[in-house]
Amino acid sequence: MSNKRDSATLIELQQHIVDLCKAFDVELVIEPTATNAHAELKRFVQMMVASGGRQYVNAVKEERRLVMMPISNEMYYAVALHELGHFCHPGGRLPNSRDANGVINVKVAIEEEENAWTWAIHHALIWTMGCQDALDKGMKSYLKQVAA
Ligand SMILES: [Zn+2]
Repeated sequence: MSNKRDSATLIELQQHIVDLCKAFDVELVIEPTATNAHAELKRFVQMMVASGGRQYVNAVKEERRLVMMPISNEMYYAVALHELGHFCHPGGRLPNSRDANGVINVKVAIEEEENAWTWAIHHALIWTMGCQDALDKGMKSYLKQVAA
């Protein structure tokens, strides 16, 4: 990633999310204690709580709204970008990823995940080991479902 910086402050990372939301017409709500994460993010929260973190972001897709706690580390920055990718990448939300009963089609969902991460990497100011870690952990939870 030759277009990436070596480092950025947390304030710069948060500002970057603010700027991208403006640029891509996504409403951004930053709350100290957001409580309505969707399932994917709930898993991520559990992972973050287990590793000492306490933040998550929530993509409300119908309303094109991103609800998140203030960014406190690079993993959260990567996840916030990833959630934006679900809104902004043309393949970030595929029509057949859930059936009429809301049951997930894992193969299609994985395609959505990959597209959202592609968008995240493309737009990121930095892509550190922490960012990559967020990607690896996120994808692993989906790939595990395929193997099951
Ligand atoms: Zn995702």
